[in-house]
Amino acid sequence: MKVFYLLILSLFTFTLNAQTGQAPITSPAPLSQQPANNPPGCVTDLLHNLKKANNPAYAQQQQLMDNAIRNFAGTQRGGTITIPVVVHIIHNNGEENISDQQVLDGLFHLNLAFANISPYNTSNGVNTGIQFCLAQQDPNGEYTFGITRTVSTLTNMNAESEDLQLKNLIRWDPTRYLNIWLVKEITTFSMGSGVAGYAYFPSSHGQPEDGIVNEASLFGSSVNNSKVHIHEAGHYLGLYHTFEGGCTNNNCQTDGDRVCDTPPDNSTNPVLCAENPNTCSSDDDDLSPNNPFRPVANGGLGDQPDMFENYMDYGFQFCQNAFSQGQSTRMNSALNTSRASLLQSIGCNSICYSPINTIYTTSATTILYGGSVTFTVTYPANGITYTWAVNGVPFGTGTTVSRTFNNVGTYTITLTADNGQPACLGYRNI
Ligand SMILES: [Zn+2]
Repeated sequence: MKVFYLLILSLFTFTLNAQTGQAPITSPAPLSQQPANNPPGCVTDLLHNLKKANNPAYAQQQQLMDNAIRNFAGTQRGGTITIPVVVHIIHNNGEENISDQQVLDGLFHLNLAFANISPYNTSNGVNTGIQFCLAQQDPNGEYTFGITRTVSTLTNMNAESEDLQLKNLIRWDPTRYLNIWLVKEITTFSMGSGVAGYAYFPSSHGQPEDGIVNEASLFGSSVNNSKVHIHEAGHYLGLYHTFEGGCTNNNCQTDGDRVCDTPPDNSTNPVLCAENPNTCSSDDDDLSPNNPFRPVANGGLGDQPDMFENYMDYGFQFCQNAFSQGQSTRMNSALNTSRASLLQSIGCNSICYSPINTIYTTSATTILYGGSVTFTVTYPANGITYTWAVNGVPFGTGTTVSRTFNNVGTYTITLTADNGQPACLGYRNI
């Protein structure tokens, strides 16, 4: 068995430290590295409307889902819910056959965003209490790393005509796992290749179409690229776009995106992060206490700018940074209603019979360049070998190692603890 422990280590020059006192762990990628295909990169609405038009029972199912979520919203329970995930890489032996590490990074980003942790933390974002694990058990109770690989030309797929063909290649029981299919290129008849991903709502729970499809190049490749599947996970858990239903806001629980603390929004246009658009003046139409944007005279905030920084907007990904409390409540309600069978899944449970419980400490997480850092395993055990790596390159073995860092930058430190038993593989962040 091997267990990987991961730490992000940041190094900054003295000048930077002196000026700011503190620097973020990682910075958003520069504009030149932003994905060109945002927005509109999500075709969830397109497929949703297509399915609604072709299947009256599905439309009814969506209504039942919305009602169940709204009725449950008042009975939230605390704690963290972890959803088992399987990532199916559908590839044709090209660059879309991304590494295990990139998948792990994609899950890592997803979990940081859903927990409102740096670099995805903001004062207006919340910890949703929802996390995701790469499955540790497959549907038959056998060991898995939670990643499958299938060779198919459907790595280039049309979302309107080939969605089920893609998913029929491989699918794990969608009542127990969130299936994520990664492909090279998603197209639609109307949008061509300008698609990054899509998902189905909890109304599709357990159905053949259930899950998320995402372009592999975006999954885990950067903090901002991962916002595509962060957004799609929002849909999977019942969130609509912030601009759903336009400006209508007579009842914030049933109009628009059915979330009261995201103001009505009537635009899918991206705006730069410093701008302050306000496309609806209907924010205060709902006079009830449910609506935080009710008139000031009624104790509310009144009309507010659009929340384009929300993950569920179509804004630029580098501006997106928050799920609201209302969205968090809605996702947790979806998990306790339409998607409740996920709560019974044991997909996240390891089948390793002799798990390694070890942890390491570090002498510093931010240092001046030219300095060194010492890493120490605090609970060493007999028969376990330890291997240390910086950005994936091994630099030492044993329970205590030191490493000198001569270049300014951010480094990922990995500790691999191995007892020689191949039963399972773990991955933890500290
Ligand atoms: Zn979307």
